[in-house]
Amino acid sequence: MIEDKNTPRTPLSELGEFGLISHLTKNFKIKQKTTTLGIGDDAAVLGFENKKCVLTTDLLIEGVHFDLSYVPLKHLGYKSVVVNLSDVYAMNATATQITVSIAVSNRFPLEALEELYAGIETAAKIYNIDVVGGDTTSSTTGLLISITAVGHANEEELVYRSGAKENDLLVVTGDLGAAYMGLQVLEREKQVYEVNPNSQPDLDQYTYLIERQLKPEARKDISGLLKALEVKPTSMIDISDGLSSEVIHLCTQSKVGVNLYEEKIPLDPTVISACEEFKLNSTTVALNGGEDYELLFTIKQEDYPKIKANPSLTVIGHITDQKSGIGLVTRANEKIEMKAQGWNPIQDKND
Ligand SMILES: [Mg+2]
Repeated sequence: MIEDKNTPRTPLSELGEFGLISHLTKNFKIKQKTTTLGIGDDAAVLGFENKKCVLTTDLLIEGVHFDLSYVPLKHLGYKSVVVNLSDVYAMNATATQITVSIAVSNRFPLEALEELYAGIETAAKIYNIDVVGGDTTSSTTGLLISITAVGHANEEELVYRSGAKENDLLVVTGDLGAAYMGLQVLEREKQVYEVNPNSQPDLDQYTYLIERQLKPEARKDISGLLKALEVKPTSMIDISDGLSSEVIHLCTQSKVGVNLYEEKIPLDPTVISACEEFKLNSTTVALNGGEDYELLFTIKQEDYPKIKANPSLTVIGHITDQKSGIGLVTRANEKIEMKAQGWNPIQDKND
């Protein structure tokens, strides 16, 4: 953590646990009509009438999932919320509430936690969700953040990983690989900084990549877009660990195979140029990079005309029978079997 000697450092012990929670959440406003009661009692009270409730949770640990030497705490707070909401959107549900729990060591002053919560508050505002609970406790080592997200959907709107059928089209939102290349740039700059702390890096050309790594956005818009296009996905998953591992999850749970076309994978031009610079294969980066938080879904072939002109959506393959396997069709028209190799096996979590 880069520390500025001019900023005040209030020890957490000055507030105590209860003072700390109410201090950190004092600006949080309740906006959702499904929140009957937020922070302040033994438990929050939520009401979804006749809808299905969607619930997902994520645990982020310093040194495993994030490195505070280049991740600003405000961005970390924002990203912690976004990665959870992405899982709610991957069910084709609306996200409405989160709880936030942190364990923190004494080396963090109150001001650092205020930064973290400022990022959480910004995400809550942008994604229109309520923070309805949480806990803080002390940690003997680093920082640990656990967020649980709640959402809802009508039962017939929910989309599972298991619904893909033979001949369906495989579709991905946005573009892939940028978050991983952003991480490569940040790791390289960290090493340069360690050798020469006075170096002034010019990172302008990497803005998109770094933003995708430090401040990713979840695809809140896709559910509404598909509804407007009158398309209901047959299966869906979000891309947290890399395209190949998510494709494998979808196919395994749907008991189908796939032909995914290398030449169709959407890449931003800055990803292609950064891959050249770092001597990495852009297809490998898109397949295994992870942290893009785009959505991967299947649609019925007859729905293709409804989505084909949309710049946010790219058809990258089609579903086959299970015996045909989970295949990547290369630019040379060879079919190779895809294997999951997330960029960090420790992160290969079940979400
Ligand atoms: Mg997920």
